[in-house]
Amino acid sequence: MTPSASPARFIALIPAAGGGSRAGLDLPKQYADLAGRSMLDRTLDAFRASPLIDATYVVLAPDDRRFDLATEEVRPLYVGGASRRDSVLAGLDAIAAVHAPTDWVLVHDAARPGLTPALIADLIDACRDDAVGGLLALPLADTLKRARGDADSARVAATLPRDGLWAAQTPQMFRLDLLRRAYAAAPEATDEAGAIEALGLAPRLVPGSQRNFKLTWREDFNLARHLFSQP
Ligand code: C5P
Repeated sequence: MTPSASPARFIALIPAAGGGSRAGLDLPKQYADLAGRSMLDRTLDAFRASPLIDATYVVLAPDDRRFDLATEEVRPLYVGGASRRDSVLAGLDAIAAVHAPTDWVLVHDAARPGLTPALIADLIDACRDDAVGGLLALPLADTLKRARGDADSARVAATLPRDGLWAAQTPQMFRLDLLRRAYAAAPEATDEAGAIEALGLAPRLVPGSQRNFKLTWREDFNLARHLFSQP
């Protein structure tokens, strides 16, 4: 069956098997509290609310004992690995047994709880008829400096042109079989688009949103708590 002959199905895959040590928390950051609910729970909201998503899978560490969000539509996979790439690839291998090779997979970091159903719809609308797939991203607004020296004594070595530069976000959306092949051949890839690019393909860049920022440092959690405390 060719891709165009099959009805498009959209599956979400959420890697949530990291430790998140950069946040300096005493638990994995996906379980950090954001105004009364965990970051992972809030990240899942956009997928639960999207009418376009057929199934959502969460990739967890094999020894995760905290996850309690399983429902008919949100399914845990205890197959997480040593890197984000290993976790995503193990998740893709697990769902390949039950989903068609031509189904679209939207890979989204648990660490981006600001995603909305509207952003999911923007990505799917832009990519569903694309031969490659694509990702949410934002054109860079800040002037870029290359530093020399350590972080606490850094000085500017150069100002870099930012023309044409975008910051990659997630979800990143590709067909299941293409993404499995791409990741299998790219052990060093840090995101889905990077693995696809290594095949010589050019993923589509779809404008995302500032609110879809990734929570990495302690300060990011305070900002997200503020966002989710608003009525
Ligand atoms: O640490 P970072 O924010 O870059 O991780 C991005 C996403 O990848 C997070 O949702 C994290 O839980 C996930 N991850 C994973 N397995 C790893 C490392 C990170 O699922 N070994």
